[in-house]
Amino acid sequence: MYIERIALKGFKSFGDHVEIVLSDKYTVIAGPNGSGKSNILDAVRWALGEQSAFRLRISKQGDLLFQGSPSRQAAKEAWVSLTLRQDDKLRTFKRILDESGSSFIVDGKRVRLYEMEEEKHALGLDGVDFAFIGQGEVLEAIKQRPIDRRGNLEVLFGIASYRKKREEALLK
Ligand code: ATP
Ligand code: MG
Repeated sequence: MYIERIALKGFKSFGDHVEIVLSDKYTVIAGPNGSGKSNILDAVRWALGEQSAFRLRISKQGDLLFQGSPSRQAAKEAWVSLTLRQDDKLRTFKRILDESGSSFIVDGKRVRLYEMEEEKHALGLDGVDFAFIGQGEVLEAIKQRPIDRRGNLEVLFGIASYRKKREEALLK
């Protein structure tokens, strides 16, 4: 499975509607400093449910909205849509931010965050958050406490959801 297309509008430095088509092999995004390369990665993370302002490199949710430029108005709404392809099957994960907050749309249907997480689980995308290594995060991973690193690895290998279910069962 791979990301075939990233479409976005009003997200961070992308005021206009932009479509980025990726190859099923290897994609490199190159450009000058500050041109928006990391913002594209932020868009992918955000569309897949990222909640951490730190990892999205913002201080508040509104920082995700295009702030405007001398020639373009600021955005009131932001959206990012990912098209995932697995052989001839296509799935779309879209996230929208507007006055009412952020919402998730999977294959055109509005879903809650936990339903989106279930969709990700069904596609084997658990732990996808740790598949993104941002600038400066290599050091962070090295410096992590063993218990925290183990926690991330358990999510990545799909063990964490069983641990959670076990804990819930023991509480009953
Ligand atoms: P580098 O090579 O330095 O890592 P980069 O290509 O990864 O650069 P980004 O971090 O993706 O650059 O983009 C930073 C730019 O995005 C800055 O110019 C910043 O002003 C702009 N930016 C971030 N958020 C917004 C926003 N909400 N509205 C408009 N522009 C924004
Ligand atoms: Mg960058």
